[in-house]
Amino acid sequence: MAATTVYKEPAPLLDRENPLESMMSRFNVAAEILGLDEETYEVLKAPDKQVIVHIPVTMDNGKVRVFEGYRVIHNTILGPSKGGIRYDKNVHLDEVKALAAWMTWKCAVVDLPYGGAKGGIICEPATMSAGEIERLTRGYTLAMKDVFGPDRDIPAPDMGTGPREMAWLMDEFSKTVGATSPAVVTGKPLVMGGSLGRTEATGRGVMVAALAALKKLGLEPTQVSAAVQGFGNVGTWAAKLLSEQGVRIKCISDISGAYWNEAGINIDEAVAYKNAHKGRLDGFTGAVLMENADDLLTTNVDVLVPAAVEDVITEHNAHDIKAKLIVEGANGPTSASADPIINEKGIMVVPDILANSGGVTVSYFEWVQNRQGFKWTEEMVTERADRIMSDAFEKVYATSQKYNVPMRIAAYVVAIDKVAQTYKFRGGF
Ligand code: GLU
Repeated sequence: MAATTVYKEPAPLLDRENPLESMMSRFNVAAEILGLDEETYEVLKAPDKQVIVHIPVTMDNGKVRVFEGYRVIHNTILGPSKGGIRYDKNVHLDEVKALAAWMTWKCAVVDLPYGGAKGGIICEPATMSAGEIERLTRGYTLAMKDVFGPDRDIPAPDMGTGPREMAWLMDEFSKTVGATSPAVVTGKPLVMGGSLGRTEATGRGVMVAALAALKKLGLEPTQVSAAVQGFGNVGTWAAKLLSEQGVRIKCISDISGAYWNEAGINIDEAVAYKNAHKGRLDGFTGAVLMENADDLLTTNVDVLVPAAVEDVITEHNAHDIKAKLIVEGANGPTSASADPIINEKGIMVVPDILANSGGVTVSYFEWVQNRQGFKWTEEMVTERADRIMSDAFEKVYATSQKYNVPMRIAAYVVAIDKVAQTYKFRGGF
């Protein structure tokens, strides 16, 4: 037997703007507008629960490596907590805390009976084999067996995870409890209780939100151009569905760089290219590689869709943004320091907790279907998800008019108000 050496991942550094601080500064403004009472403020500002685990995984070379994983439950007053699991080398507890709180606000904005949570494991999935990722996922699930549950906490995919990992998670949890438990996780493969429409749900919601916003701005989709940052699940679907609406997608990007075509990029071609080239756009010939990938954010387009990671729009580049509309496909792509600059410039922002809520909405439908033991048609899923998204958009828009605040603050107001009212009715502290 091979000798076993134990390696522990080094503790991560947070060398970027702290997303938790960005979240809190918006939360504070909304709490002030609502006149939120001190008790509820104190309860909401900290997560209900934070679980840190160390997961030993036998790597393919026979050595054991210990990975650090988190699950943060921000709040459960509205229902069991919901939120994805992120596999990335930059996962940081403060980031997971912010993402968990965003899930609380997101679920409240679209009126789902869920609280908010998020999970993460510090790892580099691109450098790991499928077997290593499977053992890591099963180890994490086992470590979280008392946290997860269809009525307690329901994970889903996020950056670095997808249906494959959700299938392993569901299997491991089911073995642990001794019963098939599809409703413990969403974003599963279709054959094992996944929902039709879940894969494209977040990108579709981004498209619906963008069209609603363009209407308010008096712009036709066929007259506008867009840049989409990130070509993962959210970015590809947002780009594809927006281009189907007639929007000219001038710029897309992924880890390999940003690609620009003034006449508009053929998104189906770009997706086919990516699928044939290990999920990357390197060498894509349907557009020109930009010298500096960050220029995508400040390029001359009407609509900007950041659909990659946090804190890409900051006080350093916000001044140079030319778009009239930003639709946030990612969670937290705009740091709080950029907000005043964007507002000053009169750019309309459909904030993350509204714009990317299509994913968790269809996750909710998946959970409902699992509990009903009945599969909905794609039309049912799409029609209901689109309606939820449009209703939420109108509610947030009306709130922004009522209080004369940007859509971002209005979305927090809608969410915090719902949570605070529920605390009032339920009582308990
Ligand atoms: N990770 C996604 C998000 O940030 C989906 C969460 C879910 O479906 O529970 O919204």
